[in-house]
Amino acid sequence: MVLSIVIPAYNEKNNILKTLERITRFLNNKDYSYEIIIVDDASKDRTIEVVENFSQANHIPIQILKNEINFGKGLSVKKGVLLSKGEFVLFTDADLSTPIEEIDKLLPYIRKGYDVVIGSRALKDSSLLIRQPWYRENMGKIFNLFVQVLIMRGIKDTQCGFKLFKNEVAKMIFSKTKINRFAFDVEVLLIARKLGFKIKEVGVIWLNSFDSKIHIIEDSFRMLIELFLIFIYNLIGKYKNYERL
Ligand code: UDP
Ligand code: MG
Repeated sequence: MVLSIVIPAYNEKNNILKTLERITRFLNNKDYSYEIIIVDDASKDRTIEVVENFSQANHIPIQILKNEINFGKGLSVKKGVLLSKGEFVLFTDADLSTPIEEIDKLLPYIRKGYDVVIGSRALKDSSLLIRQPWYRENMGKIFNLFVQVLIMRGIKDTQCGFKLFKNEVAKMIFSKTKINRFAFDVEVLLIARKLGFKIKEVGVIWLNSFDSKIHIIEDSFRMLIELFLIFIYNLIGKYKNYERL
């Protein structure tokens, strides 16, 4: 098994079929094997049914993990990653805001020896073909400012939902994460750095899907709390044991 694709899904019945069709059509034309792991984050809609129907109708095995309650994107991705068997593991959003084809830009870096290769919307060669609404872009900028000041410098876009890892690297990182919701990417990258892994940020395409599951006020507040927790954990040395040197 070469590639594992982990897709967290919360109320994605309107996106998931197209996403699975697109991913399988793309990967079936590749010369490497893959697996798909969907982590249903306690969807209230028919997400699971749509995935099961697709899997049966096309004879494509898909692993479905089911959260009993809505745990958050971070914990959902973690569960999928810890179960993955591919040599490399990618996590991507269920709406494919970064098209799956972009993995072709990330894989060469992994093959060149990078441990973590992340999609980015903030580099010169990123192409924002459909942008997020202005308030989301601005919230993202403020969040990033907090990340730079409080947690770590140097990564331009920690929040793009398209990240590729060597499997053993992903498992080592995700087995140590504590953040369950949308700020988990920051913790993942911080732990990756502490462990001394080589991270590459690569400009990708972004076609924003407006079918967002984010509650602007509630989730912004939660993200800041999570960020503050990462800051405190870091301050009191919780990530220190991971430092290789
Ligand atoms: N998601 C999840 N649990 C949640 C909320 C979201 O697993 O509680 C998943 C969602 O299904 C999607 C990804 O996280 O695959 C990103 O969510 P969304 O596309 O709504 O975020 P946005 O693009 O607005 O940042
Ligand atoms: Mg989205």
